[in-house]
Amino acid sequence: MTNLCDIELFLLDMDGTIYLDDILFDGSLEFIQKIINKNKKYVFLTNNSSKNQNDYVKKVNKLNIPCSNENVFTSGMAMGLYLSQNYPNKKIYLLGTKALETELKSYGVLLVDDNPDIVVVGFDRELNYQKLEKACEFLCNGAIFLATNPDLVCPIKDKRYIPDCGSICHMLTVATNKQPIYIGKPNPDMIYLLSKKFNIPCDKIAVIGDRVYTDIASGFNAKATTICVLSGESTMKTIEESEIKPDYIFNSIKDLINLI
Ligand SMILES: [Mg+2]
Repeated sequence: MTNLCDIELFLLDMDGTIYLDDILFDGSLEFIQKIINKNKKYVFLTNNSSKNQNDYVKKVNKLNIPCSNENVFTSGMAMGLYLSQNYPNKKIYLLGTKALETELKSYGVLLVDDNPDIVVVGFDRELNYQKLEKACEFLCNGAIFLATNPDLVCPIKDKRYIPDCGSICHMLTVATNKQPIYIGKPNPDMIYLLSKKFNIPCDKIAVIGDRVYTDIASGFNAKATTICVLSGESTMKTIEESEIKPDYIFNSIKDLINLI
């Protein structure tokens, strides 16, 4: 755990941490401005693979928060990098949105409809039964099973939740007895990639998020400083029940402005 004023790179979760749907939390803009004024860096690190980098840059700018390509890193982008580095020239069957399809193609990933080497699952808000049926067939034929993120649900407004990538993978696991490898949080690889890119060691990086089993776990796994905000999914009770504990707990991002 590092003193917060010594942190040089802040990795911020989005849903439940800086906003919910299209509503920016009080203090989010001031926190980002403080980071900029202090000459520190920030990246929005999201497990949500239903949208791509461009979508997020636009969305965050629309909320009046300064953001360019280097400030966004999604689990879909991490998947694109992972596939291009570890499985070049392999054929991929994707259960994902059009936006994720575009993202993966930008990393040179070869997407196919039949006989894939790998099945990749994302937060597919355009999912249909035919896609599930095909994925089951390919997994049973021995395709490698990769997924962007283990989140079971995604928060939407009015305190409601919809099934996320982890829930889609559960369906496939029950049907095929195959388990996916998840590339997004809590896998620390996304943090290692950013540490390398910005040349900032993990002990000068803080992960800020509202979910213990993804956000906080990723920071814990990377030995970065972890900050849980109670503006989203976690409550003091869920944190008490979790094996992984954040280094810091705050009601919302607003409480951090004077500490960095
Ligand atoms: Mg969140």
